[in-house]
Amino acid sequence: MAQYDAIIIGAGMSGLAAGIRLAMYDKKVVVLERHYVWGGLNSFYQFKGHQFDVGLHALTNYAARGARGLPLSRLLKQLRIRWDDLDLHQQGFSAVSFPGVKLKFSNEFELLRSEVARAFPQQADGFDALTRAVREFNELDLEAPQQDARPVVRRFINDPLLEDMIFCPLMYYGSAREHDMDWDQFVVMFKSIFFEGFSRPQQGVRHILKLLIDRFRKAGGELRLKTGVRRILTDGNRATGVELDNGETLTAETVLSSAGLVETERMRGQEPGAQATGKLSFTETISVLDQPAKHVGIEETIVFFSNTARFNYAQPADDVDTSSGVICMPGNFDLPSTPRDHLVRITNIANYDRWAALGSAGFQPASGAGLRPAPQAADETSAAHAGATPALPYYTAKQHWYERSCADAISHIADFRPHVTLVDMFTPRTIRHYTGHEGGAVYGSPKKLRTGATGIEGLYIIGTDQGFLGIIGAALSGISMANRWVLQRDTSAVEAT
Ligand SMILES: Cc1cc2nc3c(=O)[nH]c(=O)nc-3n(C[C@H](O)[C@H](O)[C@H](O)COP(=O)(O)OP(=O)(O)OC[C@H]3O[C@@H](n4cnc5c(N)ncnc54)[C@H](O)[C@@H]3O)c2cc1C
Repeated sequence: MAQYDAIIIGAGMSGLAAGIRLAMYDKKVVVLERHYVWGGLNSFYQFKGHQFDVGLHALTNYAARGARGLPLSRLLKQLRIRWDDLDLHQQGFSAVSFPGVKLKFSNEFELLRSEVARAFPQQADGFDALTRAVREFNELDLEAPQQDARPVVRRFINDPLLEDMIFCPLMYYGSAREHDMDWDQFVVMFKSIFFEGFSRPQQGVRHILKLLIDRFRKAGGELRLKTGVRRILTDGNRATGVELDNGETLTAETVLSSAGLVETERMRGQEPGAQATGKLSFTETISVLDQPAKHVGIEETIVFFSNTARFNYAQPADDVDTSSGVICMPGNFDLPSTPRDHLVRITNIANYDRWAALGSAGFQPASGAGLRPAPQAADETSAAHAGATPALPYYTAKQHWYERSCADAISHIADFRPHVTLVDMFTPRTIRHYTGHEGGAVYGSPKKLRTGATGIEGLYIIGTDQGFLGIIGAALSGISMANRWVLQRDTSAVEAT
């Protein structure tokens, strides 16, 4: 029976980062991943000769070379990765677009500040005060009492339109809760998106994952793909190891799980509470254009939009809510060379249960044919659409929602539909299939374990359900939990994150 210092469940960002940290300190560590590829929610695949990222729109938390004390700088220091190795290129500018008003922002916070003062002059002082409150709040205090963000924000902002325009990007990029966020999560997301900003490597998420995998292997860590964990083994109140899908048993002093809170509880034979499963899942459509998005008239890097003045961040009653979304043009980062594929990616909130119930067992169309580009005439927008869509077979539903998603997005960017040459789309069902997240819940459970402690000695939650999301957040979660629960227990020579 193999014995380890630490077993890590999941080779996503948090699992890999925790693995590197432990291997660097000569711990015998194995990362177990059920899927045949690493990356978790942030992975990649090849489709009809094109390379697509699953997750990455943008790396949040941009930090310039040499910057100190920022999340990205801390991450690089802890994993001994050089800033230049990340190959980061900043966004041009992005926008939050609501009916009749658009706020631009970039990695220079001053742009957003001036845009708020221009579009909402009555709110300018309040926005500055909110900004100060965000800056002064220590989101790394894991023991801080939880409070809702909206009442705090309303102390500073009394225009509901501006309030929702601020919440829209923060929720889309990191809220497991419907309608509101925890204040500490609001602060994390505000800093990572508005203060620090977006960047991306030319080669996308593959590049980041290759850096992490190389670092992990070089430090002596072991990665086992196609190796799912069926059960977490305990002796009384102590975790002792795991049982794999193939029946093999591995033992360890510590088990770090990035599978999610609900999923980890199930592996312990516990039935999670009804409210524990996250409700927020997404569809994402990927359109390949015949020319760069800028040539079609789209200048923004990312657009967060709502077609209604009140932004509704909640599980939709229908398959997808296309009335709000995120539109990402990966080619509109300041990249050193024009990417091979010119992409427009649109993310919308979707209902996992409805997608799970649609007919068709497989994940590929039987004919091998993919989705078709959306005809320009199909510009039936969400405002014009009433009532839930009747249940359609899976691939018909994908075609229907692809067209609706594009039609609603073009209220905010130039109409790219005549230039689409190839289409792909993933749904909540895809997310569930490839990451095991119940309900296809991208941001996990609304209940977060901020200290990682599960109540079982030696078993800790890392990543999404520790409460730190996104690529940088999840990786920092893996690092800080590995430090706190393994390395700091054994040595005082570990730098704090
Ligand atoms: C469409 C989409 C777009 C996104 N865009 C961005 C973006 O632009 N920028 C950004 O920063 N973040 C983005 N994210 C979010 C980001 O991808 C996640 O927050 C982050 O990757 C979470 O990492 P994690 O390690 O916590 O969990 P995960 O990535 O979920 O990793 C968990 C891993 O555990 C494995 N696993 C689960 N159960 C078991 C088991 N029983 N046995 C073995 N293995 C198991 C899973 O297969 C998975 O690989 C996006 C996510 C999605 C889905």
